[in-house]
Amino acid sequence: MRVITFFLIILSLPSFGQLNTQLYNAYDHYQEKSLTTRRFKHNDIMAVIDKLGKDFKVNQVGTSVEGRAIKRVTYGNGPINVLMWSQMHGDETTATRAIMDVFHWLEADDQFNAVRNKIKTAITWHFIPMLNPDGASRFTRRNHFGIDINRDAVHLQTPEGRTLKHVRDSLQADWGFNLHDQSRGTSVENKMPATISLLAPAFDVSKSINEKRGDAMQLTKLMFDQIAQYLPGQMAIYDDTFEPRAFGDNIQKWGTRTILIESGGYKDDYEKQEIRKLNFVLLITAANAIANKDFEKIPVADYNKIPSNGDGRIRELILKNVQYEGLLRDVAFDRSEVDSEDYRNYYARGYITDLGDLSTSQAFFTLDAKDYEVLPGKVYEKELANVDALNTLDVEQLLKDGYTDYIVLKDYDPFTMKKPIHVHTKMPVANETIRMGGDPSLLFKKNGKIIYSVINGHLIKL
Ligand SMILES: [Zn+2]
Repeated sequence: MRVITFFLIILSLPSFGQLNTQLYNAYDHYQEKSLTTRRFKHNDIMAVIDKLGKDFKVNQVGTSVEGRAIKRVTYGNGPINVLMWSQMHGDETTATRAIMDVFHWLEADDQFNAVRNKIKTAITWHFIPMLNPDGASRFTRRNHFGIDINRDAVHLQTPEGRTLKHVRDSLQADWGFNLHDQSRGTSVENKMPATISLLAPAFDVSKSINEKRGDAMQLTKLMFDQIAQYLPGQMAIYDDTFEPRAFGDNIQKWGTRTILIESGGYKDDYEKQEIRKLNFVLLITAANAIANKDFEKIPVADYNKIPSNGDGRIRELILKNVQYEGLLRDVAFDRSEVDSEDYRNYYARGYITDLGDLSTSQAFFTLDAKDYEVLPGKVYEKELANVDALNTLDVEQLLKDGYTDYIVLKDYDPFTMKKPIHVHTKMPVANETIRMGGDPSLLFKKNGKIIYSVINGHLIKL
């Protein structure tokens, strides 16, 4: 019986079932290696675009407020116009990196030639990577004037928004892909991180389904199925409330079948390189499904089988059952990022964002401290002249001995600090208590041995 079931599953796999895993496995060949973090700039992607070969047409279609070129890259010559735009929000960079990888895939000559040729003849594939280069220059959401371009689809007061509208209108795009990042803490029904959320946006308040939105819902479900195996329980449908000022909703309304991709959080993938890879698989499998009309086989109603984004946030770290300062509490930490002056670098700060009974909350990392003695981290007794003096110490061994915090007498550059310790330049140093907004260093001891420490909101196994 088991054997029969196995064969039925194999036989029922649709013909596009293999492309996703083939792309995932071959990804390294196509990755644009100059982009490895979230904080890259306009000139970084222009350097990639300028090197594209004869298979691509590159046109400047607009100019940002601060004078940066907004370019459209076009591949193929088929009758179906597919338009993908990324980074309308300057600090949402995952899909821009994936688009650079897709370019490298398109210009390769290898085992995917048949797929490429089908795409090339069935669709004309347009990309606008980094629609908001001014926001990207300061790693911020909004444009130069502080306007959220994604609330400018009707007023069209930003040159960036006007560019997108003009390109969509001039192509009468059949398909539109609106590529964003959502907060790392966004959840799937408050249970798991929403690593990727998708949406076929509504074009009216009552969320009507016409033929084109129905097509977008079919393709959305197909896309969900392409990468669900890599993200079990970690994909969802984004909030589908109609937003009358947003581009996705309006582009759907203007007659382009529109799909939103939101890249969220994944384990310790802070630079979103794994999520970028999954975007790469998503974009190509979507183009292939449009070229082959595979999405037509998916029942529209199956879209509703995908779970939804939740209201509750996934915390960075939850310590359960912490017995400390005479109280039993769960303790949640989150992280915030402090940008360097050129917005190319950052350091992360951990701080306590919730306390008490957190049994209904989830986190990327969790430690149940029930069987541990919880103690404050120790401050190293000797004051150091400067941070360089740390190099003369065996910081890792000292951490195993419980030393989490150091005093240095000279200011230092926190962007260069790579050690998992707390460095203080202000006196006196007392290890903080557990309090909202606080950042205490903690030790977790069992049988007289320190097993874990928490420093700067990071759980470290010793
Ligand atoms: Zn966004």
